[in-house]
Order: sequence, then structure tokens, then C-alpha cells
Amino acid sequence: MNLFDLKGKVAVVTGGNGGIGLGMAQGIASLGASIVIAGRNEAKAAEALKTLRDMGAEASFIVADVTHKAECVALIAAAAAKYGRVDILVNNAGTSVRKAPEDITEEEWHHVLDTNLTSAFLCSQAAYPEMVKAGGGKMINIGSMMSLFGAPFSAAYGSSKGGIVQMTRAMATAWAKDNIQVNAVLPGWIDTDLTVGARAYVPTLQNSVEKRTPSGRWGTPHDMAGVAAFLASAASDFVTGTAIPVDGGFSISM
Ligand code: NDP
Repeated sequence: MNLFDLKGKVAVVTGGNGGIGLGMAQGIASLGASIVIAGRNEAKAAEALKTLRDMGAEASFIVADVTHKAECVALIAAAAAKYGRVDILVNNAGTSVRKAPEDITEEEWHHVLDTNLTSAFLCSQAAYPEMVKAGGGKMINIGSMMSLFGAPFSAAYGSSKGGIVQMTRAMATAWAKDNIQVNAVLPGWIDTDLTVGARAYVPTLQNSVEKRTPSGRWGTPHDMAGVAAFLASAASDFVTGTAIPVDGGFSISM
């Protein structure tokens, strides 16, 4: 038995058109699954599709703004219509507003929570019946170091990422009976478009992350491929409700 064989399986990756989402999509594609990446930016998606197809993967892009329930439902329906099933869902789409709590507007608060947390809830809810139909499934939710730690600029972002961990645990307990494993991944500091913004906001961040991370470097999207492959495959069939840091040791270091 090959624990890492995903041939015939179908994975939907929100925000899979770049950054961590694309790194995870590549990890899952490398085991043979068909990949549906979802997001809003079609130009970025065209490049991502080329990357996946160059690996020999079957891949397509579906435009979806996952802050809207109807678009989450339509995304899962379109993936199921095209490939006949949905086995794996990576809830990766995310954004950040970095401000002191007293300066975050109500609109910004809702935008971050809707993008990072509510979208994961809605896409999971939409994917659940498809996974039941398929006899099981894998949901992978993207948390953050801010699921564990506080920062002066992370009231909205950290709330969304703390919520991801608790939602993961709740869904893991609810859907274990359906042979659906639900896990969270907590990336450390990864070099992506999102953290270009963080480094602009906190100029000392580049060096302080390197100093605190035992591995001595920032992560790359490629560093996220292995955990995605593990959590998407039969190798993790008895792993559910966890929140796995992929952080070069950042979270266990003083
Ligand atoms: P990027 O900005 O590169 O990627 C974010 C992705 O989310 C984009 O592909 C974007 O696609 C998509 N997205 C954002 N809003 C929406 C929306 N409303 N609907 C659909 N897609 C959306 O950042 P990262 O790769 O760094 O972030 C990916 C995830 O990892 C996020 O959840 C982030 O919080 C998390 N994370 C990142 C860390 C890091 O250090 N980089 C650390 C910890 C967690 P498009 O623009 O096409 O809509």
C-alpha cells in the first residue's frame, strides 16, 4: 500500500494561485491529485497553472471570492462537476490588516475575519457533502504563529487564526464519523506577498525572524509542500484536529 498516492483524488485549494497555497498545491499535485485553485487574480492564476501543469498535474482555476457564501458553494460545485468528486480542501485564502487594536475599523475587522475564518467555515460546509459522498476526505486549514502568540498589530488577524484552530478541532470531532480528517497547519514566517507587507510595517522583522528561528531563515512556499502532502494523504488517516507548526522551530524557541 502506498500511503502517499493521491491518483484519482481531487483537491481544492483556496488562494492556490500564489504563495503558501501554491506551495501546498504543488505538494498535493506531486502525489497525483487533480488540483483546482481558487482566487480572484486571474493573471496570478495563469502563472500558477503553468507551474502545476509543468509538473504534469491536471489543474484548473476557478474564480471565487471566498468571502461570499454563494461563491464558496459555486466553487465546490464547479470542482465536483468538472472532476466528479472533491476529496481534499485546503482553506488557505487569507489577508491581514496590521494596526493597533484601537485603530482597526469595524469594516477592516469584518474583512479579515470574513477572508480568513468565515471563508474556511463556508468552504468546509460546502465541501462536506462531497466528501461524505466520496467516503471520506481531508480538510487542511491554514492558521499562523498568530494562532499561538499575540502581537500589537494582530488583533483581527490573530483572532481569525486562533479561530481557525478551534474551528478545526470542532469540525474534526464532528466529521470523524464520516472519515473526514480536519487539521490545521501553522506556518512560521514564510516569504510571500503577504509578508512583504509585514516587513514594510515592521522593518526589524526580517532580522528578528532569522534570529529567533532555530533554522536561521525565513520559510519558502516550497517548505509547505510536505505537510500538505502528508495531511492530504492516507498517511495521516489517524491524525485529526491537530495544529501543526511548520516554522523552522520558531514556536519552540525563546
Ligand atoms: P499571499 O498574499 O501570497 O496569498 C494569499 C492568497 O489568498 C492569494 O492567493 C489570494 O488570491 C487569496 N485570497 C485573498 N483573499 C481572497 C478572497 N477574498 N477570495 C479568494 N481568495 C483570496 O499570502 P500567503 O501565501 O502568505 O498566505 C496564505 C495563507 O497563509 C493565509 O491564510 C495567511 O494568513 C497564511 N499565513 C501566511 C504566513 C506567511 O508568513 N506568509 C504565516 C502564517 C500564515 P487572490 O489575490 O487571487 O484573491
